[in-house]
Amino acid sequence: MNPYLPDSELERRDLPESELGVESFSRRTMLKTGAGALIGGSAAAVLGGGSALAQGQAPALLTGWRPETAGMTFRALVRDPRTTSPASVVDVRMNPIDPHQVVVKVQAAQGCYTIVGDLDPDNLQTVKAGTALTDMPYALGHGAVGIVEEVGPMVKRVKKGDYAMVCLGGTCGQCYQCLHGRSNACQSNVGRKPIVVGTLSDGSPVGGNLAGCAEYVVAWEESMLPVFASVPAVELASLTCPMACGLGMAMVRSPIEWGSSVAVFGAGPIGLSSVMGARLMGASQIIVVEPIRYRRELALKNGATYALNPNDFEDGAALVAHIKGMVGYESERPFAGGRSAARRGPDFIIEAVGGEKFPPRVERYAREPHGIEVLQNVFALCPAGGMMRTCGWGYTPDMKVTFWAGDWANGSKHQTGGNMAAINTLRDIPRWIRMMEAKELNGAAVVGTVSSLDRWKDAFEACGYRTAITGIVTPNGPTSGPPSPTTA
Ligand SMILES: [Zn+2]
Ligand SMILES: [Zn+2]
Repeated sequence: MNPYLPDSELERRDLPESELGVESFSRRTMLKTGAGALIGGSAAAVLGGGSALAQGQAPALLTGWRPETAGMTFRALVRDPRTTSPASVVDVRMNPIDPHQVVVKVQAAQGCYTIVGDLDPDNLQTVKAGTALTDMPYALGHGAVGIVEEVGPMVKRVKKGDYAMVCLGGTCGQCYQCLHGRSNACQSNVGRKPIVVGTLSDGSPVGGNLAGCAEYVVAWEESMLPVFASVPAVELASLTCPMACGLGMAMVRSPIEWGSSVAVFGAGPIGLSSVMGARLMGASQIIVVEPIRYRRELALKNGATYALNPNDFEDGAALVAHIKGMVGYESERPFAGGRSAARRGPDFIIEAVGGEKFPPRVERYAREPHGIEVLQNVFALCPAGGMMRTCGWGYTPDMKVTFWAGDWANGSKHQTGGNMAAINTLRDIPRWIRMMEAKELNGAAVVGTVSSLDRWKDAFEACGYRTAITGIVTPNGPTSGPPSPTTA
């Protein structure tokens, strides 16, 4: 089956078994079914091709291959939407992987707010009604760092024994989105069916895309990134999702210009990473807005020039007016580089707040916990010619942002929204890893609590309740550091 295609498409395009043999696979059929890697007609061509669009189209050529990890039992944090106590560590029997898949023995995985936020705030082991992503049990996670245990025969990007990352957001490099510079929307990732990693003891299937909170994770090749550097797994864990998003907002699409002024709303793992990205880009002024004290302090240690507590202001308008007053120099001489009060505002504004799924157990922005006021503030603060980068998440359809139509239509305000900030995992994450290795980027700053798989709740609570900057799980025990970097 081709996981890029919906079921209805598959039904139309699946071929009868007799047509899948090498001899009977005509060039016309290959082209018709998109099995481009088969051109050449030999097994060697297929095994060396690895065209993402040819996935699952060549089973006859893999006769005799059986994954070594098939049938292996491993422990995973699994949520079962069929019950009310679904999130627990259970044994999973691994399914045979697809020829394009990879098995990774997990050293570290971050408990992203995206997955934590779907659990009940009062009891992490209870699922809120209507929040299930699938109707089958599924293993939790949002990426992982570890050692490649096995690769399918079509995989080229990594090999067994590699130190590697499983990243949120694949980069196939070949689909329409990748070819148009939008790898954050790569079609190897978006809309793909869930990976069914294995079965529970009762035989129920277990889904698990990016399910790093487990001893082993199964991933598509397009999510994989080999790591050729000596950076500890716990520091890389956040780069699989929130840190990459934060750095991407500051450095990739609409990159911050040197000497510019920047405001960052929210200094969690994403906002803190944006602060570090803004510093790396050479911003002259980085103003952080964050209600949690230790997060303001962390931001100040890692590049922020000012940190404001939004609770110190009467309302959003007062906060916006204050920040405008902090930025640049007001001058009555616009012809000499000055700008009037009406034109003041940060050159770049980054929003890393979103809706509140869990009530924090630290300081809280109580005035409006849904993140809507923040979005309004971002728009109000943005000057003509300014750039807004937003990534908020967790809004319900009834939540609306409203602003003056004229300001939106003709205000020269630029906005780029979206998770993962247009990053290309293959291009961008290696350079951030290199910057971590060179101590230009502080990977340790984004490591909060580190917990074993059995103590996963500690990590999730740290993330959900914001008592630490992140919660990292180390499913195969603590690691002192990365293995010797792979050089091949
Ligand atoms: Zn995430
Ligand atoms: Zn792609």
